[in-house]
Amino acid sequence: MIRRGVDLSHMPDDCVFCSIVAGEIPARTVHETDEVLAFLDANPLAPGHTLVIPKVHVRHVGEIDDDLTSELFAAVAELTPRIRDVVNADAANVGINDGRAAGQEVPHVHVHVIPRFEGDDGSPIHAVAGERPELTDDELDAIAADITG
Ligand SMILES: [Zn+2]
Repeated sequence: MIRRGVDLSHMPDDCVFCSIVAGEIPARTVHETDEVLAFLDANPLAPGHTLVIPKVHVRHVGEIDDDLTSELFAAVAELTPRIRDVVNADAANVGINDGRAAGQEVPHVHVHVIPRFEGDDGSPIHAVAGERPELTDDELDAIAADITG
């Protein structure tokens, strides 16, 4: 099966998400446009756990162009409430593991939409990092200035 609207010629052979885009690996697709694909996570953290990906192989969020970023997030915004409704969730976490140290296991950008339920014993996004750093106001100012550029 060839997905519509996608040039498959630049996909690496060993990327599981590119293989899903190419139709070589089956997935439970829940949303598809010319540029974006969403499917249920094969090892879900909650019922309805969905991955939203650009069809083109992009490793990091900073490598996605503006138009694709818009389409990707539009899909996330459309799907998140729909997924919540379908599984009767109380809330959802939406997040990206960007890079191996952050827990990215497949080197192809994917947005997790994870339904959450009152009392599910899960954690907020705040729990993903390690020990909180103690930063002075000067250090925070310097970081902000460097990011601003
Ligand atoms: Zn890929």
